[in-house]
Amino acid sequence: MSREPRVAIIGAGISGIATAYTLRQAGFTDVVVLEKGSDVGGVWHWNRYPGLTCDVPSQLYQFSFAPKADWSRVWASGREIQRYHRDVCDRLGLSERIRLNTEVVSAEYADGTWTLTDQRGERIVVDFLICATGVLHNPAIPDLPGLGDFAGRLVHTARWDDEIVTDGRRVGVIGTGSTGVQVVSALAPGARSVTHFVRSPQWILWAPMRIPQPRIAGRVLRRAPRLHSRVYDAFLRASGILADIVTTPSWRRRAVQAYARLSLRLQVRDPRLREMLTPDYQPLCKRQVVSGSYYRALQRADTELVTDGIAQVTPTGVTTVDGRHHELDVLVLATGFRTHDYMRPMHVVGRDGLTLDQAWTSGPRAYRMTAIPGFPNLFTVLGPNSPTGSISLQHSAELTARYIAQWLERFRRGEVDTVEVTGAATERFQEQVAGAMGPTVWNTGCSSWYLTEGGAIDLWPFDRATMERMLAAPDESDFETRTRPFGQDATPPGFDRHTPG
Ligand code: NAP
Repeated sequence: MSREPRVAIIGAGISGIATAYTLRQAGFTDVVVLEKGSDVGGVWHWNRYPGLTCDVPSQLYQFSFAPKADWSRVWASGREIQRYHRDVCDRLGLSERIRLNTEVVSAEYADGTWTLTDQRGERIVVDFLICATGVLHNPAIPDLPGLGDFAGRLVHTARWDDEIVTDGRRVGVIGTGSTGVQVVSALAPGARSVTHFVRSPQWILWAPMRIPQPRIAGRVLRRAPRLHSRVYDAFLRASGILADIVTTPSWRRRAVQAYARLSLRLQVRDPRLREMLTPDYQPLCKRQVVSGSYYRALQRADTELVTDGIAQVTPTGVTTVDGRHHELDVLVLATGFRTHDYMRPMHVVGRDGLTLDQAWTSGPRAYRMTAIPGFPNLFTVLGPNSPTGSISLQHSAELTARYIAQWLERFRRGEVDTVEVTGAATERFQEQVAGAMGPTVWNTGCSSWYLTEGGAIDLWPFDRATMERMLAAPDESDFETRTRPFGQDATPPGFDRHTPG
């Protein structure tokens, strides 16, 4: 028996594109990608604030199946990365499978299928649901008194409006993650003034983020695809050093931390400003910020660092707890994302009416980043525990997609109708994760977007080889498979409950 699985992928960002391509290569033809945005690219579509750059070298920050030789900079701009994603979809024939402007508002499982409903009320029914909905997806709006009363332009960086004028204006920026640092650096030269409101300073590694990639390198790599592939592999291997630095205490971690302290000491000579910029936690504990221009921007006469807490936002600016009022024309929220809201606000209902919110009351929990007990035939790509900040996200997404494809293949061959990870296997994986988090730098005492409300660190604490091993092939004893849908009371003929082996 052979039948084609009907598959829906939600999201056309990095993980959705990687999955759509992988499934196409594996010969799956009934695949649709549903994307709420008006373009592909995920965070690279939504994020378009001034100064947006990727601090991962572009020769690594790309799909293995779509190498791009001729990046204009070593660390490409957001605009160039977004163009790359669109080109990949067009060039590899994925665009025809992608439905833009389609927001899935609910996904409900019953009798072996998922029914998805979009914002227009249109429904589709599929056998498998793959959620590639991203981490940096839902903007976090701070709960500041008076925020709604601000009479100037108020904008979150992830919803930047190109019409906003900042040149010649008094601009306030709240937040000092990778985004806040980039946006302050970009706006400072043109604005009348920039006031940077910083609740907890970050360590900032110096790097020449704007250096061009030599044209000759692009030409050579384009003409020599095998060499290019070796360069990509070399970057992938080199990124293993980063994974090692953040997961294992060693001289390498100490060296990077010393470099972070040196970056501050050498660039900020004023002891008072330096003290205001010195974090009270170890470098690398939060997602590391990299910049070659932030400290310089901050030391301009028209830029001010404000570390006093925000008491309230008024119609004309921001009042800090010391009673000072900072007059502003534009207020930029660089306050990050609700990073643990995976898949939400979509209403996801799994087996026996279990909602995702119910399943995750104490925080997101998945098996090997991709499967959730209670949610048969649903997989996530770059789901909980994904390696943001240590291992290539494209590589992780491609591995996960190939892993999922193996289940789809079994469905196609008629070996399974439904597959669901067991609670016990998920528990075991979570225990492994918690155990491995111990020596990581993320566990050295800082607040960061990596922490869930329950205090768990939502990251991948293992190395790349472990990820490749865990996602090489499904470990059958960790799943229950059936040839009839879950949720049917009577055991139907041909019932094939997988026996752990
Ligand atoms: P983020 O790292 O979560 O930073 C949010 C900032 O907003 C923090 O400084 C936080 O302060 C501050 N904040 C939040 N609520 C606040 C409040 N009520 N009052 C005052 N301050 C408040 O967010 P992000 O900068 O957007 O970066 C998120 C992630 O996106 C990055 O870590 C990175 O993974 C990715 N990113 C990557 C790049 C790149 O170059 N590859 C560029 C941009 C973003 P506290 O620290 O005190 O909470």
